[in-house]
Amino acid sequence: MRKFSFMLPIFLILILLLSSCEGAKKAKLEVQDRTEFVLNTIISVAVYESEEMTEGLWNDIYKPVREVDALVNRFNRDSELSKINEYAGKCEVEISKTTYDLLSFAKEKSQEVNGAFNITIGALTSLWNIGGEEARLPSEAEIRDGLAKMKLDKLLLRSEDNRYYAELKEEGMSLDLGAVAKGYAAELTKLKLRELGVQRALLDFGGNILILDELEPAKDWKIGLQSPFKERGEAFMYVVVGDETVVSSGDYERFSIINGVKYQHIINPFTGYPVDNDLSGVSVIEENSALADVYSTSLMVMGKEKAREFIEAKKLEAILFYKDGSHEVFLKENRENGTL
Ligand code: AMP
Ligand code: MG
Repeated sequence: MRKFSFMLPIFLILILLLSSCEGAKKAKLEVQDRTEFVLNTIISVAVYESEEMTEGLWNDIYKPVREVDALVNRFNRDSELSKINEYAGKCEVEISKTTYDLLSFAKEKSQEVNGAFNITIGALTSLWNIGGEEARLPSEAEIRDGLAKMKLDKLLLRSEDNRYYAELKEEGMSLDLGAVAKGYAAELTKLKLRELGVQRALLDFGGNILILDELEPAKDWKIGLQSPFKERGEAFMYVVVGDETVVSSGDYERFSIINGVKYQHIINPFTGYPVDNDLSGVSVIEENSALADVYSTSLMVMGKEKAREFIEAKKLEAILFYKDGSHEVFLKENRENGTL
C-alpha cells in the first residue's frame, strides 16, 4: 500500500546548510518521523526543520487519523459507520460532525464522478471481501441483490441544532468509506500540523502522499510513483510537487485470487464485479487529498477512454498506467516529471 517517496538530494543539502546557520537560536532538527498502523494501513509523518517533537505533539498529530479510524472504519464494530450500517432500514443514528462532513463530502462527490465512486457500495464490497481471508466469487443473484442495495439517494444526512444524523433507508444497505477515508484523514492531519506551527512535512497515508511546505523558500519535492508492474516500493517515474498531494489507486494495491483468477478491490458500481479494464493504476495530483482519493478510485472504475475524457473535462493532473505496460501523462506544462 505504500508508495516510494523521496526528496531531491539538493533539498537535503539545503536543509543542512540552513540548520547550521541557525546558530544560537533554539536548535531545529532536520527531520523527525513517526510511523503507525491506523485505518488498516501504514501511516507515516515526517516533520522537517522543527524543534524537537515531544510525545504529546506526536499524539496530537495522530489524533485526527485515530479519530477517523474510530468513527468510520467499517471493520470496527463500534464505529459510527458500523452503527449506521447496523440500523439500515430501521432508524437514523446520531453521528459526529466529522462523520457527517465526510459522508456529505463523499455523497456530493459521487454525483460529480457520475457514480463511479459510490459509498453505498458496502453490500457489494462485503460480498466479495477482496483482500480479506474470506474472499469468494458471489453468485449472479447475490450480485444483483448487492447492486440493488447501492442507492445513494437512500442515504439521508441531517443536521439540527449542531447535532448530526445519518440513516440508510433500506435494510441490507451498507456504507464503505475505504476509497476516501485515508485522504480525508490525511487532510485533517495536515491541518493539525499547520495548527501546531509545523511548516514543512511529508505525510504518507498508505499511498496518499501529502506535502506541507510553508517555509521560504519552498522546496521542490520529488515523489516517486510505484509502477504497477514492478516490485512494491520500486519507483518507476517521478513527479515534482509543492504543497500538494499525490494519490494512487490500482489493481496491485489489494486483490484476491479466486479459482485462479485475480480480482482487485475496486468494484465497478455499474456491474457489481471487480474492475477489469485497460487500466492498471492511476495517480492524481491535486491540492486536496480527499478529493484526489475520490478521483483516483473513480478513474480506475471509468477505464481508459472515460478516464481520459474526465481528466480533460476537469483539467485534472493525473497519470494513467495501462495494462499493456504503457502510461500516459496528463500534467501541467511546467510540472517536472520523468521516468527512472
Ligand atoms: P482506493 O484504494 O482509494 O482506490 O479505495 C478502494 C477501496 O474503496 C476498496 O478497498 C473498497 O473498500 C472501496 N471501494 C471499492 N470500489 C469502490 C467504488 N466504486 N466506490 C467507492 N468505494 C469503493
Ligand atoms: Mg481512493
